[in-house]
Amino acid sequence: MRRRNALSIVAIVREHGDISRADLARAANLSPATVSSIVDDLLQAGVLKETGAKASTRGRRPIGLTFNARSRLAAGISIEPEFIRMALCDLDGYPISEATHKHAFEENIPLLTNFLVARLKDLLKGSGNPFKRLGAIGIALPGPISNDQTSMLDSVGMPTATIEYQRLWALLEQKLRRPIIIDSHVNMAVLAENTLGSPKPPESLLLVRLGPVIRSAFLVHGAVVHGQRGSAGELGHVPVPGNTRRCRCRNDGCLNTIAANGAVVDTCRSQGIEVTTVAEVLDGARAGNAVCSAAVAEIARGVGFALAMAINLLGPHRVIVSGSLTTGGDMFLVPLLATARRYALPNNFDKCVISGSILQQKGEPIGAALRVLQLQLDGLLIDVVGYGDLRAARPAEASPS
Ligand SMILES: [Zn+2]
Repeated sequence: MRRRNALSIVAIVREHGDISRADLARAANLSPATVSSIVDDLLQAGVLKETGAKASTRGRRPIGLTFNARSRLAAGISIEPEFIRMALCDLDGYPISEATHKHAFEENIPLLTNFLVARLKDLLKGSGNPFKRLGAIGIALPGPISNDQTSMLDSVGMPTATIEYQRLWALLEQKLRRPIIIDSHVNMAVLAENTLGSPKPPESLLLVRLGPVIRSAFLVHGAVVHGQRGSAGELGHVPVPGNTRRCRCRNDGCLNTIAANGAVVDTCRSQGIEVTTVAEVLDGARAGNAVCSAAVAEIARGVGFALAMAINLLGPHRVIVSGSLTTGGDMFLVPLLATARRYALPNNFDKCVISGSILQQKGEPIGAALRVLQLQLDGLLIDVVGYGDLRAARPAEASPS
């Protein structure tokens, strides 16, 4: 009860901004004594702060209370085969610090754990925050994660072995002593796109991530649709007309076989163009190489077709496409949009806003931090920020109301 009252008090202060204890008690429908006791703890924990007495025409105004968004921070970590991206967000969801590190030892879990802990501490220190301000950590990984967080599901087409994430998770929790939530890159990134990638969060948002495999995330009223097992969003397995390549899923013509990063490179290499990355294919197209240009346009049409199928099925308010290919700008997005328009039903397509991602991979660690922020704010705020510890330290305090 006391925790619920505390959550309600925090919610009211966040909504109203500068509010007095008396007004807070009225708004929360609690006794002034109860409010005062909880507020004292929240002040001590730093979750609330006082605005100080202000002079007014009618004399002194009572001391107001405001929410201290910087009292605790959420961290997001995105792990890729070569890079680790990190971000810290305050309790309002604003990114306050970010970092990218190159690494090459993802399969040595103890080494990776030590690296992550050290870099996270660096990030906190560099932004002037003590370790105790860290609330919870979200981790973005390549593959889909089962809804109960007990296993990484096989994502058909994932070219590299996935890391032994459960051991990583256990070691990190042991070393950091903070709650950790794990989800796929795309499911984390969609949360950042929702709040930072759009002027106003749309009612529903589809994020398509073009990378080593093509996966998508669908967000409705702020919640990610995970599907019954956690593996929703395999847009890469939509067959594209005219494509006959055999997919690892054993079907023919899947989008992954032409638009996944490795497939993009292979398409050009099979025609004698020496490229090793999608960025080099785009450079080739920009420099007027006909093979690269044709490949980029053909891939864009394939993605546009699959997107049309998703738009017909989901009717999203907004679609964001991320990944190296989208950095090609018009040469990729124009044929993509033309094909999506050609195959999507007007009712679903006409008011849907489609664009490339501005955040790109920066969205993954930020989204991971936002994911645990939601967890904190949706019910665990007080536990995570240490209210439980304060209460335990004060056994003589009045019993919960
Ligand atoms: Zn397939």
